[in-house]
Amino acid sequence: MTVKSIKKLRTDHFIALSVPQLKGNEWRYVKDCLDSGWVSSAGGYVKQFEEAMAKQADRCHAIACASGTGALHTAFMLAGIKAGEEIIMPTLTFAAPAFAARYVGAYPVFMDVDERYWQLDIQKLSDFLSKECKLVRGQLINRFTKRVVRAIVPVHILGHPVDMMPLLKLARQYGLCVIEDVAESLGATYKGRPVGSFGHLACFSFNGNKVITCGGGGMIVTNDHPMAKRAEHLTTQAKIDPIEYLHDEIGYNYRLTNVQAAIGMAQLEQLAGHLKRKKAIAERYARGLGKVNGIIHPQQAPWAGNIWWLYTVLVDPKAYGISSRTLMHELTKQGIQTRPLWHPLHSQKIFKDSFSYQIKVADYLYQHALSLPSSAGLTLKDQQKVIAFIAKRQGKGSGA
Ligand SMILES: *Cc1c(COP(=O)(O)O)cnc(C)c1O
Repeated sequence: MTVKSIKKLRTDHFIALSVPQLKGNEWRYVKDCLDSGWVSSAGGYVKQFEEAMAKQADRCHAIACASGTGALHTAFMLAGIKAGEEIIMPTLTFAAPAFAARYVGAYPVFMDVDERYWQLDIQKLSDFLSKECKLVRGQLINRFTKRVVRAIVPVHILGHPVDMMPLLKLARQYGLCVIEDVAESLGATYKGRPVGSFGHLACFSFNGNKVITCGGGGMIVTNDHPMAKRAEHLTTQAKIDPIEYLHDEIGYNYRLTNVQAAIGMAQLEQLAGHLKRKKAIAERYARGLGKVNGIIHPQQAPWAGNIWWLYTVLVDPKAYGISSRTLMHELTKQGIQTRPLWHPLHSQKIFKDSFSYQIKVADYLYQHALSLPSSAGLTLKDQQKVIAFIAKRQGKGSGA
């Protein structure tokens, strides 16, 4: 399909995977920024948005950032992770946490995900720590790479939480820092508590495809006061004297602007509504495609409050008749955007120097998963079109 024909589809009628829903006070708050002249990184909305996000995540402090990736980078600096050290994370995730590890010179250690909920596999994590690492003078060393293992990043993918209790127990046992990546799961809960409230630090994203957006943006939350202070310092150029331009370390321009925070604030006011709509969308997919042979539905753990960021199914090519990729291409021709999950990071060239541990499930999911249109603003009619096509297509073979 050519760029031109995709553009034409967009103007005809295009059912997107995940696009913003801007139906609240966005205009009013942005106008307020423009009218008052507070458009840059100082201004009332940044503070308001930080306070609201701290409350949402049940934490004492929140520091706004220019992006989720910048938030992760800053969090790794706050955790004191140094060049040559290692950070454990799932191989099945958007690449941002692995990129951020490299920004501080650290290396990801890629873990598999579990078969049922597709999150960081706690059993394999435990096996890796107990069998493949050893404590040397108080430091945990990876026997293969000889590098120091410093932290774990549970990435709550697709809106579903990671099993945090056993993870936190392992982290305590081995003295590892926990930095949650909550980019895809704002509003999700684990045993009734919001994700983002468990780690030493947690990072959110407000990119355009997330459950709420600032256009672009991120947030770090923590209960640690000195870390919060340092986060603000690092993200605002590490100035110690703004008049004489004195800096006490290498700083970053990672602050969110007031205009972005204004949009974020308006979006956060609508979070409950977005989550309600996404839940209804998930229920309709589960019902509408529940009996389609070869379509395997995502499961929710008993301890999980899933926000169903992207409703993702597995397409079993034998039972369904065609592969997930063929189905994706056919849906594209109908003006329906779907996506496979991320190419597992451990087998990407850029991470060839990183260690990975017994990965199997992630590769299987990568091959068969397909995320379906899940925007909070998805209409009933559009969703029925998606469901009808997928249901009718079953069993018809390659169609060639
Ligand atoms: C989107 C995303 C990020 C990065 O956020 P940006 O704001 O786009 O930099 C980080 N981690 C995960 C898992 C994501 O899905």
